[in-house]
Amino acid sequence: MKPWLPVLLSLACIGSLSATPVAAKHPTKHPAKQATKQATKPHAAQPKSASAKFDALSARFLQELWQINPDFAVSAGRYELAGKMVVPDAANQAKNRQFINRWLDILRTQDAAQLPAKQATDLALLKNALESQRWRIDTLREHEWNPSEYNIAGLTDLILNTEYAPLPQRLRTLTQRLKDVPAYYAAARQMIKQPTHVHTQLAISQNAGAISVLKAVQKSAQTAPLSKPEQQLLQRRLVTAIATVQAYGEWLKKLDLQAGPRRPFRLDKALYQQKFGYDIQSSLSADQLYQQALEARDTALAKMDELADQLWPKHMGDAVKPGDRFDKIGQVIAKLSQNHVSREQFVPEVKRQIPELMEWVIKHDLLTMDPSKPLEVRETPLYQRGVAGAGIEAPGPFRPQDRTYYNVTPLDAYTPEQAESELREYNHWILQILNIHEAIPGHYTQLVYANRSPSLIKSLFGNGAMIEGWAVYGERMMMESGYGGNTPEMWLMYSKWNLRTICNTILDYRVHVLGMEQDEALRFLTREAFQTEAEAKGKWRRVQLTSVQLTSYFSGYAEIMALREERKKALGDKFNLKAFHETVLGFGSAPVRMIRELMQ
Ligand code: ZN
Ligand code: ZN
Repeated sequence: MKPWLPVLLSLACIGSLSATPVAAKHPTKHPAKQATKQATKPHAAQPKSASAKFDALSARFLQELWQINPDFAVSAGRYELAGKMVVPDAANQAKNRQFINRWLDILRTQDAAQLPAKQATDLALLKNALESQRWRIDTLREHEWNPSEYNIAGLTDLILNTEYAPLPQRLRTLTQRLKDVPAYYAAARQMIKQPTHVHTQLAISQNAGAISVLKAVQKSAQTAPLSKPEQQLLQRRLVTAIATVQAYGEWLKKLDLQAGPRRPFRLDKALYQQKFGYDIQSSLSADQLYQQALEARDTALAKMDELADQLWPKHMGDAVKPGDRFDKIGQVIAKLSQNHVSREQFVPEVKRQIPELMEWVIKHDLLTMDPSKPLEVRETPLYQRGVAGAGIEAPGPFRPQDRTYYNVTPLDAYTPEQAESELREYNHWILQILNIHEAIPGHYTQLVYANRSPSLIKSLFGNGAMIEGWAVYGERMMMESGYGGNTPEMWLMYSKWNLRTICNTILDYRVHVLGMEQDEALRFLTREAFQTEAEAKGKWRRVQLTSVQLTSYFSGYAEIMALREERKKALGDKFNLKAFHETVLGFGSAPVRMIRELMQ
């Protein structure tokens, strides 16, 4: 069984963009005073002791969690227990189940009404994380059908390449861990039953990656200042580990060729609905959200149809306008996409835009910003490249001293054709929307606010739909304030981008619940969502390998929009957009459903 992967740590931002944990303490100077304006009851009346007790309780919970799941501790940035490899066997599963049940009993004795909002939301998130994990073990049972859950590469790589301690010490830690590699893969073979074809294929390719990570350890070890016996022990264990991983790969290949019943990759309705409940924590059901996405799609397409007509004479000249609206919109988008920066200017242009976004947000009174903490834009470090695009890289909650970066990958590694395709995708307009989403007022800004009232629980178990939804809402907020000059070109491109978010939800539901097939899916994405062939194929792969995560963007966005309209209605003239934004962000990465309850 995989270490608990909270939504945050497995967050995959906008498809091709890099996935980094959006969990960090980013020090900011002034606390958000306005943020409490619309907040619920003042916290002063609550008894201090309940709050202090809860703090102690959650600290104890985390201590025990690290013990039972040291891999999770390491991914969160705590390396004390890194030497212990967890063997994912039945005994370990039983231990986890016991831990979950015991803690659920403890948490059920806690009275949320006695706690300030920050901790009441922490309590709810903790309960959900535990219940969700129990459901994963007992009902979803991914450990039986997803062989890619078994891979030692991630943690090995993290220990080898994170400078939390001098290299010789890290290598000694790896030596300790490597002892259990044979037991680890023996357990994997015991656990796997009827794996899906697509997850088996993924496991086979990632298994090859594990071998290259082990070879990288071999290479670092050769020149490291270790004693001779240490060196020999490590090398011996590495040889065994590599042979074990290779054998696992061979075993998987044989398994994949075997006849007999195979589990399909589709979750199907019941499992999908349950997973949606745990992962998204929405006030809507999966079916309701799907219906909402269909409506949003119609609205977006109607708007795009109108914009395409408006833009046609200016950009398409005398060309014959197709009667089919998808063709028409698609042609205008293709034409506009030719307007983009040169490949050399890609990173510098992102850098140039960040202070502009900051200034815009301040000038239009959308949010209070801290100009003394500018975001650092940099080229993605070489070892992290391989996934195109851009993403916020924040240090884990245990490394508050580290900086937050906006990593942007230059297009150096691309052929001219690939670079052109990428530049058209991230054209003059979309590049701005990307920066809004990733940085200001999107992910980076949300992170800054979340860290003003730091919560370890929220940075470890926070709600992914709130985080993605906020970034998507940020795009809308900027468009509504007139960013980009309110031009039809900007609105068309924004709508295309927004349609992608909506279609992620539609696709996920159609594939996992309604049984949509590959050719239908590709046609839907390329023709009706104006995506390139390459993008659509990548999405098809992702929807087979994941479920529910693709709905988080639209789900969080739709809930924030609905909440805003609700507040407008309730407050009338007293509604203040900036105060609304700051209140929403002030609750940290809590589910929007919870934020809504707390605001009322
Ligand atoms: Zn995102
Ligand atoms: Zn071009």
